[in-house]
Amino acid sequence: MQSNGEKGPGKTRPRRLLLCLDGVPHEVIEAARQRGLFDSFRAPSRLLSPFPTMTNVALSAMLGATAPLGYESLYFDKSARELRGGVRKYIGWRTPDKIPSSYMDELDYQEPLAFEFLVYVAPEKVWRTDMQRFRARFRAAPQTRDYFAFLKGTDGLLHIRGPKHLAVALESLDKILREIQTTCGSETETVLFSDHGMNLFENRRVHLKTHLHNHGFSVGSSFSERSRANLAIPAFGLCGYAAIYCGDQEAVANVASSLVELEGVDFSIYKDGAEAIAVTGADGAARVERKQTNGATRYRYIASNNDPLQLQPILEALNQAGKLDEEGFASDKDWLENTANHIYPDPLANLYTSLHTQRVKHTADVLVSLRDGYYYGWSPFARLTRLAATHGNALRPSSNAFLMSTHRTLPPFIRADVAQPLLRG
Ligand SMILES: [Zn+2]
Repeated sequence: MQSNGEKGPGKTRPRRLLLCLDGVPHEVIEAARQRGLFDSFRAPSRLLSPFPTMTNVALSAMLGATAPLGYESLYFDKSARELRGGVRKYIGWRTPDKIPSSYMDELDYQEPLAFEFLVYVAPEKVWRTDMQRFRARFRAAPQTRDYFAFLKGTDGLLHIRGPKHLAVALESLDKILREIQTTCGSETETVLFSDHGMNLFENRRVHLKTHLHNHGFSVGSSFSERSRANLAIPAFGLCGYAAIYCGDQEAVANVASSLVELEGVDFSIYKDGAEAIAVTGADGAARVERKQTNGATRYRYIASNNDPLQLQPILEALNQAGKLDEEGFASDKDWLENTANHIYPDPLANLYTSLHTQRVKHTADVLVSLRDGYYYGWSPFARLTRLAATHGNALRPSSNAFLMSTHRTLPPFIRADVAQPLLRG
């Protein structure tokens, strides 16, 4: 452990309490601070959550951990060509062979298993119990090493009850953190962050399967000869994205173009060659291309019809500033600086890496980003709940998580992929 070496907690830096609040958006933490909560923290950074803005994708990136199998616990296995996991696996997922990503090994505290479903029925009770258990466990932990806790109840509270109820919960958390800071003193740095944000709209279902069925596709749970299905679309949580797997690679572009006219779909992306992705939506079509020269990454945005990612003004600004090379590529750094606060934060690198790097082991063929106010998911969950908020798409409310510290002033925006040294270093 670090505590035995020359560096680490209590040696070259204070001991750290890392506390992740599932699904709390940057704007909600800003509003809480306006009300006087969390005033011992420095200004919160916007932590840019990768697309699709889901817990396992985000936390494995933020902690530099192994890629989870899929976007959620129900996922499509591309070698077995069938759906795997789901509710029964979910209940048992914390036995070591089923851990979805190695970041879970680092957690000192997470809620008891049963809470993950109870949260949809009794979100306030689950949240209160979760917070009290965390406080008790943290008190009993050794003071010589970091402590990492993940409070999942905030996500359920926002989904089911909305921001007013979360505001009450944050007041209780503020009290607990004040008490911890009084007890532990300045030798303990508290780092509070979230994995992804959330849109705070009432959300409606997108009729994805019906629409694709009407366009001649057959959606099933495997691509065996008996099933005759040519698409699989895991449906689990009620979230603002969909991951589509195609039995036949030739169907990929057709699936994306047939979704253009479906209400609630913002855009779809798919791989388009070795170093490009295609973006297809109701607002137009474009390609995002990457090139690597002398170890530096550069991106180019080519709209072939309108401007689906609303980047034309930024492209002009980059051109005016002399940041585009003769082929129209700009550096990854320039794109990030100019789009960190865009309606789609950091869209070129974010969407490109969602398909061309291993955010999950079984990457989808088509990733769909829904508009705010729409979700796709498992219908029994939908019957159980009224959805007051959700996340998953590439828009700003879901992409802007937060990160703040009692001891360090952090940059105004931080990509998930470079957060690990700030959290664990
Ligand atoms: Zn959620």
